[in-house]
Amino acid sequence: MSGTIHIVGGGLAGSEAAWQAARAGARVVLHEMRPVRSTEAHQTDGLAELVCSNSLRSDDWENNAVGLLHEEMRRAGSLILHAADAHKLPAGGALAVDRYGFSNEVTDALAGHPNVEIRREEIAEPPEDWNSTIIATGPLTAPNLTAFIRKMTDEEALSFFDAIAPIVHHDTIDMNVAWMQSRYDKGDGADYVNCPMNEEQYRAFVDALLTGEKTDFKEWEKSTPYFEGCLPIEVMASRGAETLRFGPMKPVGLCDTRTGVRPYAVVQLRQDNALGTLWNMVGFQTKLKYGEQVRIFRMIPGLANASFARLGGLHRNTFINAPRLLDRQLRLKARPQIRFAGQVTGVEGYVESAAIGLLAGRFAAAEICGSVSDVPPPTTALGALLGHITGGADAKTFQPMNVNFGLFPDFAPSEKIRGRDRKKAMSRRAIADLEKWLGRKDAAA
Ligand SMILES: Cc1cc2nc3c(=O)[nH]c(=O)nc-3n(C[C@H](O)[C@H](O)[C@H](O)COP(=O)(O)OP(=O)(O)OC[C@H]3O[C@@H](n4cnc5c(N)ncnc54)[C@H](O)[C@@H]3O)c2cc1C
Repeated sequence: MSGTIHIVGGGLAGSEAAWQAARAGARVVLHEMRPVRSTEAHQTDGLAELVCSNSLRSDDWENNAVGLLHEEMRRAGSLILHAADAHKLPAGGALAVDRYGFSNEVTDALAGHPNVEIRREEIAEPPEDWNSTIIATGPLTAPNLTAFIRKMTDEEALSFFDAIAPIVHHDTIDMNVAWMQSRYDKGDGADYVNCPMNEEQYRAFVDALLTGEKTDFKEWEKSTPYFEGCLPIEVMASRGAETLRFGPMKPVGLCDTRTGVRPYAVVQLRQDNALGTLWNMVGFQTKLKYGEQVRIFRMIPGLANASFARLGGLHRNTFINAPRLLDRQLRLKARPQIRFAGQVTGVEGYVESAAIGLLAGRFAAAEICGSVSDVPPPTTALGALLGHITGGADAKTFQPMNVNFGLFPDFAPSEKIRGRDRKKAMSRRAIADLEKWLGRKDAAA
């Protein structure tokens, strides 16, 4: 074992990465800027601070993809899951925690580990002589480091705001109502799912957008100059009754190929992952509350029974275009001694951020020992999430993603597993494949 892994950022991802690398025997220096400098959202100097909700969401590993991710992380020796289990609060099927106990547990475990040194300092630019670095600085990465990341990549590779449009599971779209066609039959001629509206449906939909309950922007989010470029759908609707019909819902160049009817307005969905299981609603970034999104978007013809893999949102969020910039080991292609982990890689959520930290820590530790860690199989939650951000997602439209079953490869049609049984079967397959992965020895480099 030679060399040191430098981890920048002691949040969910950086803490997990440090733990995984240290328990694999690597020497780790964890650089956390708090309390020397804080972010707009953090309140304490504890590692792995939960900046908002105290819930790590569903803990049901057989029926929920984030619950499955919990279980996989537990089996992989996750510090974040260990601390969450130790400080669990009653919350039905969710894994909610005492945020202070949780953060203290993570801080104490890392401070007490003989392979870990914690330095309270801001890193503006990783020095050239660090031969293994993990950048895990999260959605509120400090500006100097952001400038460095931008210098190493390019203008378009780094975003400061996410503009998340809802994503729908393809098998819940009613294709008897919707049809496949590209505007003016461009490209392959049939790249988009089109959900048609008549005038009455359009007016009712615009009304619902205007009256639906919204979440507020935080003060520091309002000042972000990138906001005007990606207006929420309801803000566009508020600019005039026809605005959406001349914007994302314009019907021009589209005509129902089965009936020849030209719709009054159209909602288009575009393929979002290589598997073709997830489709995003084009231009539908929104600040509507989650419950309202489900209610209002199910008014769209063809989406009456839609199941949403992810709902829309708009937040201040620093993230890179991971599918374009990173290799499968989370290394920056342009400078492979630097890895990225956590929300900055374009995953969304506490658990997903920690999960990518877990993988980055393992990959970096294997490398520093002169070997190469296998990536987890795509049938596992860890592998599905990793596969999405390092190639499965379309780099042109890349936006942050939660873990969900749409990221997993489906069963062969002959296996005919549907509904709740399908999730259970996917979860069992995931755990069996994860155990095989965990049991494998890393290959020599
Ligand atoms: C306001 C807000 C609310 C959120 N609410 C939720 C929620 O309720 N549920 C949920 O699942 N997800 C939520 N998220 C999304 C996300 O899951 C969390 O932000 C999560 O903490 C991301 O983990 P991370 O490790 O990538 O980043 P963080 O946990 O933010 O950790 C990054 C760390 O890096 C440090 N840092 C930054 N720059 C530097 C630097 N240059 N040098 C040294 N240290 C640095 C920071 O101080 C921080 O400790 C929220 C995000 C935001 C911004």
